[in-house]
Formats: sequence, C-alpha cells, structure tokens
Amino acid sequence: MIDLRSDTVTAPTPAMREAMAAAAVGDDVFGDDPTVIRLEGTVAELLGLPAAVFVPSGTQSNLCALLAHAQRGDEYLVGEGAHCFRFEAGGAAVLGSIQPQPVREGPDGRLDLAHAESVVKPDDVHFARTRLLCLENTRDGQVLPLGHHAEAQALARRHGLGLHLDGARLWNAAVALGEEPAAVAAGFDTVSVCLSKGLGAPVGSVLAGRADLIASARRWRKMLGGGMRQAGVLAAAGLVALDHRHRLVDDHHNAARLAEGLAALAGVTVARTATNMVFVRFPAASVPALTSAYAAAGVRVLLNRRPGGETRLVTHRDVTGDDVATVIAITAAALRPG
Ligand SMILES: *Cc1c(COP(=O)(O)O)cnc(C)c1O
Repeated sequence: MIDLRSDTVTAPTPAMREAMAAAAVGDDVFGDDPTVIRLEGTVAELLGLPAAVFVPSGTQSNLCALLAHAQRGDEYLVGEGAHCFRFEAGGAAVLGSIQPQPVREGPDGRLDLAHAESVVKPDDVHFARTRLLCLENTRDGQVLPLGHHAEAQALARRHGLGLHLDGARLWNAAVALGEEPAAVAAGFDTVSVCLSKGLGAPVGSVLAGRADLIASARRWRKMLGGGMRQAGVLAAAGLVALDHRHRLVDDHHNAARLAEGLAALAGVTVARTATNMVFVRFPAASVPALTSAYAAAGVRVLLNRRPGGETRLVTHRDVTGDDVATVIAITAAALRPG
C-alpha cells in the first residue's frame, strides 16, 4: 500500500510503540502526567514560547486558541483558504460566537495584507470587534517567508490585534527554511503544531504560547472534552516524533522527485509543488484508467474528478523513494494510449 492521500496516514513506528508501552503516566487533568508535562515543555522550548498544552487534534488546538484570544462578538482575520476558517466546521462561530473575517490570499499562500488592513473594524457599535490575526505556515505545503510573518505581525500590532499561527506543519516549514522552529514561531502569541502529520505519531497536537492564553486554552480544552487522563501514552509517541523531525527533508525530496516524474508525462501538469505536497492536473479522460490502475497496485490517491481539478499528493514517513518511482511508473502506464 502506498498512501498519498495525506501525511496524517502514517502509522506509529516500532520505536513509538515501545515508548508508548513504557511511558510513565498520571492523570493529565490533575496536571500530574509526567510524560505529557515533558512533551509540553519540549514543544514550548522548541518554539521559544513560555507555555504549552497537549490537545487531541489540530482542530481543537486552533479552536482553544481562538476561544482564548477572542470573546463572543469578536472577530478574527484569517486567510480565505486557511484551515481554521474553511476546514474546522465553523467551530469558532458555532462554539465561540466568534466571527471569521476572511482575507484574500496570494497564489503563494501569503495574506494580502492591504486587504487585511482594510477589513480591520473601527471601534463602532455597527461592527464586530477585530481581535486577532491568524496565519498558517506551511499553507498547502507552501512555506511563507519569515519576512511575511514580520509584516503581518507589524500590521496586527499597529491595530492591537493578537496573533495566532496555525503551524500544523511548522516542522516542515522550519526544515525547508533551514531555521530553528523557534524562528518560525517568533512574534506570535499562540502557535499550534501537529505531531500526527508526517512524523508518525498516532494522535495529538500542542498549543504553545503566552502563559495566560495557555491557561485559558486549558480551561477551554476541558470544556471541549479534550481533557485526557493517562495521556502520557500518546505524548510518548509525540516525543519520539519530535526527535525525528529532521527526517521531513526526505519527504520534501520525495515530493520533488514525484513532481518531476509526473511533469514529464504527456498530458499531466504539475500546478505546484512545495515541501511535502504536489498538486497535479491529470487529463480528465484518464481518471477512470488511473482509478483502476491505482486500485490494482494498492496506491491510494484522492483523485480530483472535476475537469482541470487539482489532485493533491502528499509524501510522508511511510512513502519511500522506491514508492515514488512505483507511482510514477504506474501513472505512466495508465496514461499510455491503447
Ligand atoms: C491538519 C490541519 C489542522 C487540523 O489538524 P487535525 O488534527 O486534523 O484536527 C489544522 N491546520 C492545518 C493547516 C492542518 O493541515
């Protein structure tokens, strides 16, 4: 099986399963699970932030952050394609009465900061109170340059806004930039990172940030049902994942090779490739042949069936260089006429 649907499909490694079996645990809701405490401390230190809280998912991490930053009747500025606007079931609006204000994004994933500035609301009874600016890095695999962080942060500070970074794939961004994770996290009040993408941890995200915001997020986590008890078994896997984060360069290499191999096939267009993601347009007429060829070979891909639609292919720990060559060969054979 070669699974290119997402980097969330990775299975825990034997080393992780060993660490999980051996993990010292306590009751994390009482704050006495030593392995969770170690994971939170490790992430806080890696990100150069004072505090952190372990949560079950990236979605809950972003939601806890939004709830900690903003109140009922407030709003957050967020990229129109960002995960914490589009792909989290409207949680901030449903559970927090917090309104998203979408901001235009460039093709490279950067926020249109002139647009962002133009939608910051004045203090006027007609408007929601603009409280927060959210960035996402990487964004669809694309690495936002740290200069863009600085510009967005300057804008937010001019208007007294809080700053949240959805860094689900911050580890990929750091590796791609050749920077320490703390450099990517610098200047934000809260930063969310995933442990379950590409690195093999089965479950978990961490929200790091200013101590008062993390204390508030901890209360929201409990309310949302994310207070886990002997969560050290999960945190132990997360610690192993972090130890191996430098291996993400292999995923980036594999994605580049995959993009190169597919781009060489007649009729296939690689729309873009960045870090561990490749976005490809296959000829619409070839989708049935690709579907059966992939199914027969145990290749899992979320094929976009819309004519001209982009199919996203994602590399991760469980995709090898040989797997990449296999996928290119199977695709070539399926596209060959007759
Ligand atoms: C995956 C992802 C999340 C959410 O993580 P889950 O653990 O799937 O809830 C948040 N933001 C971004 C950018 C993501 O890619």
